[in-house]
Amino acid sequence: MTEYPIPLTDAQESSVKEWAADDRLWTTQETVEFNLRTFARTIMILMGKCIKCGTNFVGTPENPPPDGLCKYCQIDALKADNSKLRKALVGLVGADSKGELEKTEAALRMLPVPDEDRVNTINAIHALRDTLPATSAMP
Ligand SMILES: [Zn+2]
Repeated sequence: MTEYPIPLTDAQESSVKEWAADDRLWTTQETVEFNLRTFARTIMILMGKCIKCGTNFVGTPENPPPDGLCKYCQIDALKADNSKLRKALVGLVGADSKGELEKTEAALRMLPVPDEDRVNTINAIHALRDTLPATSAMP
């Protein structure tokens, strides 16, 4: 039995919040486009289809994946998040390749820095090393 109203997916909720945060008076076209996007997503979910690629997702319209995405698009979204986090960490550590990371770690172990900073930075280096993309795994 479907419960009404159907709960918003995370993507829908964030677009609603974006809409609510926008104080301007929207043009008719913007309002229509926004409603059509929201409506299209709801229809896709009701049909049991991924809101991004249209593939049938595992789950039922009554129990869709929280973001309305199929497992492939969920993996893509996770990869994009992972890449974003990795980029931010590379910016903090200042090294990306396996060789650079090893050199940075070796130097860090010699430098007179507070233990807490050393531990945190070495953990960051290990996280970067362990999540090296396959293409840049070479030193
Ligand atoms: Zn998909």
